[in-house]
Amino acid sequence: MKPIIIKNSRLPKMLSWFMEVGGITLFPFIFIRGEGDERLIRHETIHIKQYAETLILGFLLIYVWDFLYGFAKYKNYDDAYRSIRFEREAYGNELDIRYLESRRFCAWAKYKV
Ligand SMILES: [Zn+2]
Repeated sequence: MKPIIIKNSRLPKMLSWFMEVGGITLFPFIFIRGEGDERLIRHETIHIKQYAETLILGFLLIYVWDFLYGFAKYKNYDDAYRSIRFEREAYGNELDIRYLESRRFCAWAKYKV
């Protein structure tokens, strides 16, 4: 499904506690700070696909689990965030303009925390 993109949202800024948040995806919405750019929208659209593949609740549970596991391992918010398998897929492919068309079902599953 196509995401519903909300530009110039205040939500990303409100969530910028420990890092600068440019966008946040809460299925089926993508909230963007300012106008965003292709890279950011592609990153968040990868999260939309992950949400759909995990029936939304699975995304949230795995996301929180990976963050807590990463935080216990790295003792640092940024490294914990970067270790989340959904973020590893999104950051690893956000610059690939053809990624969304070529992406395999549940591509996130090959990433390890
Ligand atoms: Zn992300």
